[in-house]
Amino acid sequence: MYDLIIVGAGPAGMTAAVYAARKRLNTLLLSKDIGGQLLWTAGVENYMGYQFIEGPELMMKFEEQVKRFPLEQKIGQELAALSLLDGGFEVRTDNDERYQAKAVIIATGKRPRQLNVPGEERLKGRGVTYCAICDGPLFADENVAVIGGGNSALEAVYDMVKIAKQVYLVSQTQLTGDQILVDKLKDISNLTIFLEYEVTEVEG
Ligand SMILES: Cc1cc2nc3c(=O)[nH]c(=O)nc-3n(C[C@H](O)[C@H](O)[C@H](O)COP(=O)(O)OP(=O)(O)OC[C@H]3O[C@@H](n4cnc5c(N)ncnc54)[C@H](O)[C@@H]3O)c2cc1C
Repeated sequence: MYDLIIVGAGPAGMTAAVYAARKRLNTLLLSKDIGGQLLWTAGVENYMGYQFIEGPELMMKFEEQVKRFPLEQKIGQELAALSLLDGGFEVRTDNDERYQAKAVIIATGKRPRQLNVPGEERLKGRGVTYCAICDGPLFADENVAVIGGGNSALEAVYDMVKIAKQVYLVSQTQLTGDQILVDKLKDISNLTIFLEYEVTEVEG
């Protein structure tokens, strides 16, 4: 039985792993991937100590730091079920492996928020996507709508105006992203912004 199982190896899970290893806890780090959402991030400007670093490079540095400590890793495995045992927990993975620990930290991050409008589910992966960095190049020279008005949407717009023919930003509210990102959108010729518009359907 491990002292601790950490599920998820994004920034939170890897940080927890280093703290656990320094406390000499017998720890298992179990995750679908190493790096989490930052693997999809082109550039990080707000991690102190680095003026600018690419997300995957920062995560490689996190991984190197984790590897300096003696802890077990199972990467490429997904948590499928978690159950309570006498004195601990049992974690079951998607390939039916079972691990037990006295404590479990869930650091599985987040999933994209869906619009929940007609057409979205049907067209997911066929034109509807949730990651501009990952899928943007698939829409080169096409017309693209980015839905949202926060930092993720603004970063997606900034990436897509370089790739797509025309970008439409549709936001239910005024833009709520950081001003530094809002300023970057000024004077982009292939961008049209619709503020206080709501998406009601995706057609394809
Ligand atoms: C496009 C984009 C740009 C961003 N830019 C910045 C930025 O510039 N600066 C900044 O500070 N933040 C940025 N962020 C936010 C930052 O990436 C997140 O805040 C951070 O990654 C959260 O870390 P986390 O470890 O909590 O979760 P995540 O990074 O989501 O990691 C979750 C981990 O859990 C694993 N996992 C999930 N479910 C399971 C399961 N069932 N079983 C096993 N493993 C599982 C995943 O594989 C992953 O390894 C950005 C995010 C995005 C999407």
